[in-house]
Order: sequence, then C-alpha cells, then structure tokens
Amino acid sequence: MRIAILSRNPSLYSTRRLQEAGIAAGHEVDVIDTLHCYMDITSNRPTVRYKGEALPKYDAIIPRIGASITFYGTAVVRQFEMMGTYSINESVAISRSRDKLRSLQLLSRKGIGLPRTGFARNPDKIDDLLKNVGGAPVVIKLLEGTQGIGVVLAETRKAAESIIEAFMGLKANILIQEYIKEAGGADIRCLVIGDKVVAAMKRQAAPGEFRSNLHRGGSAELIKLKPSERKTAIQAAKAMGLNMCGVDILRSNSGPVVMEVNSSPGLEGIEKATDKDIAGLLFEFIEKEAKPNKTRTKGK
Ligand code: ADP
Repeated sequence: MRIAILSRNPSLYSTRRLQEAGIAAGHEVDVIDTLHCYMDITSNRPTVRYKGEALPKYDAIIPRIGASITFYGTAVVRQFEMMGTYSINESVAISRSRDKLRSLQLLSRKGIGLPRTGFARNPDKIDDLLKNVGGAPVVIKLLEGTQGIGVVLAETRKAAESIIEAFMGLKANILIQEYIKEAGGADIRCLVIGDKVVAAMKRQAAPGEFRSNLHRGGSAELIKLKPSERKTAIQAAKAMGLNMCGVDILRSNSGPVVMEVNSSPGLEGIEKATDKDIAGLLFEFIEKEAKPNKTRTKGK
C-alpha cells in the first residue's frame, strides 16, 4: 500500500518507527510535513499539494497532529478525507479529542467513569462549584493545557478559591475536578488500536509531584490491566471515534476513571516500557481496515 505519515518532524521517534515498520511490512511510506501541505479547497477534484506538486493518491494516512497545529492539521486531514483517502484517525475525531471539555461531555454521555468535574468561567458561587465536585482538595485545570502544564492541585478550600479567582482574572476557561488521591500520583496509559488495548504502562509521578506526565519527570513501567480498565479504555476510544489513541486512566476507589484521550500518542515510552512493536501492529490494522472512502465524516 501507499501510505503517508503526516508529521512535522521525520526524526521524531514515533515518526521514524512508523516509517520503518511500514517499510518492513512491504509498504511505500512517505513522511509529509503537515504545515507544508496546501490545497485548493474549492476544486471539485480535491488534491493536496506539496512542494509544488500534487501528492499521489495514498491508500491511507497516519496523522500525527501536534496540539499546537490542530487547526491547520485537521484541515489537511479533512482534505485527504474529501479525496476518499482513509485516515487512521478522522479529522473530526482529532478535533474532538483536543477539546477537553467536549471530550468529557461525550465520555460522560456514554457512561464512562470520570472524575467529578465542573466547568466554569466566571461563577458567582465558587463555594457551590467546589461543593459540586466534592470539595477540596481539587485539581484545577486550564482547558488549553498539555503535558501537565496548567494542572494545579489545590489542597484546601482557601487555596482552591484563590486559584480559581486568579484564573478567572485571566479570563481562562477552567475545569475543577475531584482529586483522585488514591491513584497515588500514578496513571495508566492504554494504547488502543481498533477495538483492542495493545499495550499499557503505568506512569508514576516523580516524588513530591502528583502529575505523572513523563514530561514532568514521571517514570514508566509495565502494568497488567484489570478487565474493567481494558473495557473502559476501549469504550473511551470508541466514544471519541479514534482508531488509534492513548487513553489515560486513574485507579480510583470507584473504579477506573478516564483523564484524557490522546489522538497522537507517543510510541517511545510505551514501546520501551512494554517491548512491543506497536508501530507494526498499526500497519496490520491499516492493512485490514483501510478502504477508499471509508470515512464516517467526509469533513462533516
Ligand atoms: P495534561 O493533558 O496536561 O496531561 P491531565 O489532565 O492529563 O493534563 O493531567 C496531568 C496529570 O496530572 C495526570 O496524568 C495525572 O497524573 C494528574 N491528575 C490530573 N487530574 C487529576 C485528578 N483529578 N486526580 C489526581 N491526579 C490527577
């Protein structure tokens, strides 16, 4: 098959691994810089142009769209969808997963376990907002944060009130969330491909830190999932409409709760922690699933 990886940087571990695995499986694999794609959006024969030429008709694309280029990146993916090219993750699903609030609302509608979460911009009743999520300690999150930046633990009601007031003063959209203390600074990253969890790792926060992001100094190890966790991860991927994603779960006293679903999960940490060829598994999935015009959205 002829497959394109949309990525800004061919030397990133995940991009390199995907290209290697695709070539090893006998495919022709190009790495295309998403931001250098351009297109005539009104043509009735949609194409994507790159470095002065129309790109060939690919059988499938693997979008690796970083959070900072979501808007342009999803427009490029949408153009491929209009051409009938199969995308491992569809543009609508990628946009959906980038919006924490929209994601939580969709997951909640499907009855998937979540920490109690409030959303506010300028509430007159901060005490009521806090009471609704069970009171302090609470985690306060900037809606637009990534990699653990903009995620604050407020241990007391007083601290929570001042942090909420500070964010309100900056006109930021924030989530106020029940603090899952029993998770002990650990979360579980489940890598989902299709309707299977193909790998899982536990990430433990550095001492004195509650955020387990590897970017915040967390460490990763292999973990055996409980059936309820496996089920939650698969349901979350399905609710988001993502064929490949990373589902982050915390172990709470009331069972697994989903933190977030990432549509371009990094492969390095999880391949190293689990010793699995996840890139290879993705190509097996593409070989089975990729068909022209197999998209549920065509840009809707
Ligand atoms: P980001 O998208 O920036 O990674 P997250 O919402 O995933 O932000 O939070 C970062 C980390 O902080 C999580 O992986 C988890 O370890 C910790 N964390 C976030 N929310 C909670 C919570 N409600 N209770 C306990 N720990 C949390």
